[in-house]
Amino acid sequence: MLAGQPIIILRDNVDRTRGFEAQRSNIMAAKAIAAAIRTTLGPRGMDKMLVSSSGDVVITNDGVTILHEMTVQHPGGKLVVEVAETQDDEVGDGTTTATVLVGSLMEEAEALLAQKVHPTIIANGYQLGMEKALQVLDELAITVGFNDRDVLLKIAGTAMTGKSIEAIKDKVAGIVVDAVQQVAAEKEDGTYTVDEDDIKIKKQVGDSMNDARLIRGIVIDKKRVFEQMPNKITDARVALLAQPLEITKTQVKSKIKITSSDQMKAFSEQERESLRKLAEQIVAAGANVVLCQKGIADAVQYYLARNGIYAVEDVKEEDMKFAAKALCGSIVNKPEELTRETLGHAETTEEVPDADMTIISGCDNPKAVTILLRGTSQLLLDELERAVYDAARVIQDAIEDGKFVVGGGSVETELQLRIRDYAATVGGRAQLAIEGFANAFEVIPRTLAENSGFDTIDKVVALRKAHANGAKHSGLNVYTGEVVDMLDAGVIEPQRVKTQAIKSAAETAMLLVRVDDMMITQTGNPAA
Ligand code: ADP
Ligand code: MG
Repeated sequence: MLAGQPIIILRDNVDRTRGFEAQRSNIMAAKAIAAAIRTTLGPRGMDKMLVSSSGDVVITNDGVTILHEMTVQHPGGKLVVEVAETQDDEVGDGTTTATVLVGSLMEEAEALLAQKVHPTIIANGYQLGMEKALQVLDELAITVGFNDRDVLLKIAGTAMTGKSIEAIKDKVAGIVVDAVQQVAAEKEDGTYTVDEDDIKIKKQVGDSMNDARLIRGIVIDKKRVFEQMPNKITDARVALLAQPLEITKTQVKSKIKITSSDQMKAFSEQERESLRKLAEQIVAAGANVVLCQKGIADAVQYYLARNGIYAVEDVKEEDMKFAAKALCGSIVNKPEELTRETLGHAETTEEVPDADMTIISGCDNPKAVTILLRGTSQLLLDELERAVYDAARVIQDAIEDGKFVVGGGSVETELQLRIRDYAATVGGRAQLAIEGFANAFEVIPRTLAENSGFDTIDKVVALRKAHANGAKHSGLNVYTGEVVDMLDAGVIEPQRVKTQAIKSAAETAMLLVRVDDMMITQTGNPAA
């Protein structure tokens, strides 16, 4: 009865791609994404200018930022973008490296598929290659101590190269190392942990980038609310208030209807009285600084000023929370809830002349710091912030793990050679897959050379030769084209940047290569 009748198992709005086409589609997507950002890799990588549909402009060299702005549609491509996102979440740097590596692994997979190596064998070979790679990285990693300032400065510097902030790199590296050391907590076993939320980065347009500095405390991007208030308070006792310091509508509504001018006078006196009471409660609690998340009524400002109190209104919620943490105080809703215990403490609170800023420093909790960045334009400041963020994260990685590896294409060349040696010991078809995995690493030195305008084959061959001769720290000087000892040159990166990049790139490549059937449900036009 059923003979000749097709059996329909999928709804007709499902787009299906199978077999080689599905593999090819994912390979193409991974390669295309890698190709789009590879030109930004390394100190001589170029920047990208991205313009959103609303016209916002971003100029950056940062892998994950570019991928976010690109809004990738392809399902396989989205997985590749996730590699960069995971890299950013877990380690904060190496997002371009990780993405370029997936692209390269997929390119190798393409060649293996063409040689009729089965996807399962490729995936298994990649798994073995990845395990070997992590083991080699462990062997190559060098120890860095919490107080090895020189080494940490170099790690911060490497993370910031090529981010169009070259001029102040050294200064900012120093600030970042100080900041992370300040907030790091020693564990019982002598290792350290860093809570990245303890470091705030604040940006202010104006002045030169050179005015960047570390504040052992917090920065609120607001002036004091009223000129008559003091502009500096020492021994600050800070009230943190979530609700407005004004008479709320409900309070006013509950008042009786006003019919005579006497009543009017009485009413406004009453109003003034309750506003004065708000201020008095603050004074009685012993505060001399007020941070209010909402508005402060004029009358309250006046009373606070008369009592020598410094107040800021409309403080961002995020800043309120950071202040509570830094000052060891708690946020309360109304002044009547203030007690000595809820107040925060700091050595000073002061307004920065010529800037909309209040700085609260010498906070009770020393493990809360702010990196204050200045710059002449918002675009520049945004890129500076991304560089500082990367640097802070790599210092965190280095301090927590105490391990770094050598950059400039050095560690990747060493990995390539050692994994190839290992592949030869495995033999068979798996050997081909492991070799493919090994060769994928070449993309890093090759791209560094290419982005610096050198002949890629020459440089890759020279690097391999140096490594084969035992110079295991050889990498590419991207300015002269020479093969040099990158450890001596101070181009070093946390081991975690590389382990994470290798893990997520390999895992994603393994996942993609196994796919031979893609079913995409179209949401589009139901009438069609
Ligand atoms: P990612 O997003 O992967 O961090 P980057 O653009 O920051 O991309 O480039 C990182 C690569 O540049 C790493 O391989 C690193 O070793 C290399 N690199 C950084 N500084 C130098 C340098 N001075 N000389 C050569 N290579 C460098
Ligand atoms: Mg980087």
